[in-house]
Amino acid sequence: MKGKIALVTGGSRGIGRAIALKLAEAGCDVAVLYAGRRDAAEETVQQLQGLGVRAICVQCDVSDENQAAAAFKQVSDELGLPDILVNNAGIVRDCLAMRMSAENFRAVLDTNLTGAFNMIHACLPGFLRRRSGRIINISSVSGMMGNPGQANYASSKAGLIGLTKTIAREVASRGITVNAVAPGFIETDMTRSMNEAALNAGVKQVPMGRMGRPEDVANAVRFLASDEASYITGCVLKVDGGMYI
Ligand code: NDP
Repeated sequence: MKGKIALVTGGSRGIGRAIALKLAEAGCDVAVLYAGRRDAAEETVQQLQGLGVRAICVQCDVSDENQAAAAFKQVSDELGLPDILVNNAGIVRDCLAMRMSAENFRAVLDTNLTGAFNMIHACLPGFLRRRSGRIINISSVSGMMGNPGQANYASSKAGLIGLTKTIAREVASRGITVNAVAPGFIETDMTRSMNEAALNAGVKQVPMGRMGRPEDVANAVRFLASDEASYITGCVLKVDGGMYI
């Protein structure tokens, strides 16, 4: 993947950082988008540059289409047109549906689902012109199984699967692949913020008996972004220790 340009949303921390590093190890120049944690994003950039690739970070709320378009333009101007888009940015606002406000429902959909659409919308014209490109959306097993307390999150992640399959069909004839990766429980700030009892109960459902690491997800993304995956599109690759079989 030497010389390819990857754009990873939510690349400042957790799974997104691991994906950015894995793609850089494979030779990609990488742009990471982040919401507010500039310190973390700059640390990722330093780690990426340490691997000998070009790297930048761009502050961008992906839920805002104008910010998404502006970030895409900045990445294209500074690094070149992206070849690989990884829609990884995501948030949780867990709460039982009975008590969930419409605002909380909307906020999670806006970031996790509309944010991915905004970035796809920004990247697609370039992909179509060059008749190549890779789009990888980070969904969740929560979107496949449902999960109490996550009406907003599970809906957004199920929506990402519908988005993946639809765009895959729309652009397959143009040499562009679109796939989703659905992680189970992965050790990041997101799971560290969860209620401990709920997390322990969740991990008990994992046949492998443990949480995954961000690198486990990054390995799957790296494969789907590579030439070896050129005949794979519209798939949902679970990385969940067997949690959803
Ligand atoms: P983290 O909470 O550790 O990191 C979230 C990342 O998303 C940060 O880089 C954050 O930026 C960025 N972000 C949040 N909101 C926005 C926004 N509006 N615009 C741009 N960037 C934004 O999450 P994880 O690494 O755990 O999760 C990454 C992805 O994987 C998410 O989509 C999540 O839903 C999914 N996932 C995670 C699982 C897990 O167990 N951890 C399981 C299944 C799926 P900043 O640092 O600036 O705040």
